[in-house]
Amino acid sequence: MAGPVWVVPGEGGGHFPRCHCVYIDDGGGVLIDTGAGDRVLADLTRRRPVEVVLNTHTHIDHVFGNYLFGDRDILVPEMMAHSAGDLVKLSRRFVPPEMSSLWRRVILDCTTWRDQPPTGTFGPSQVFKFGTTRVETVFAPGHLADHCMFLLPDHQILISADLDLTPFGPWYGNPESDLDLIRRSIDQAVALRPKIVVSSHREPVTQDIAAEFARFAAVIDRREAALLDYLEQERTWDQVLDQRLVYGPAIPFTPQIVRFFEDRMLSQHLVELRRRGLVRATERGFIRV
Ligand SMILES: [Zn+2]
Repeated sequence: MAGPVWVVPGEGGGHFPRCHCVYIDDGGGVLIDTGAGDRVLADLTRRRPVEVVLNTHTHIDHVFGNYLFGDRDILVPEMMAHSAGDLVKLSRRFVPPEMSSLWRRVILDCTTWRDQPPTGTFGPSQVFKFGTTRVETVFAPGHLADHCMFLLPDHQILISADLDLTPFGPWYGNPESDLDLIRRSIDQAVALRPKIVVSSHREPVTQDIAAEFARFAAVIDRREAALLDYLEQERTWDQVLDQRLVYGPAIPFTPQIVRFFEDRMLSQHLVELRRRGLVRATERGFIRV
């Protein structure tokens, strides 16, 4: 694609539970994320060597193929490394306890997951050198507490992971996700002024990058506006969640789990709106002030 950097397109368009991966053809071969699908990765490793695997963060769709590289170096962000590669521990991080066994079943159904502990970790601004290729870690939390991007400064490529510039917009649905941090991480990505953005769920973006990030961030504002509009009348929180203001009518995943993610994302908007005095609690639920 550019210099030693190749995109490894994920199966099914790289949509969840798959992702697009990145291969760096230098320093013995580096693979960033392993959720492209096992056949895609087998095809890659038949053609090119992989010496090191890096994970952008611990979401399943980015790491479920790590087990295919069990005899190689697998490096994960140090922030949440205690749970990396361990499905039970990840389930405790990503969903409430009463949902964790359901969540694990769903993951085992839709991926080829096998537990695979990492061999090491990297820090929030670690710089790697693979052959002559420099790769700088850019810690970008909010989507997840360990979400990292990678910058290749010599090629002005930003591997933006799940700041993915898709029309769906930013995702902040886990207990540890943080809406305010995700806004700051988007600003940080723009400030790096990349010429190419390679994200995990969309084709590489090479034009109007600042505008693309602005459109992506604007989805956050649209969700907030939709919640505020709906609260023109008093509503219970169940009524709010029934509107599916974030996910819309399609159900991409187990309904119970999607409802939890919807709840988690909208709850953060609700907290902000109440803090700004735009929404208040009532006996039954909430209303716009
Ligand atoms: Zn993710």
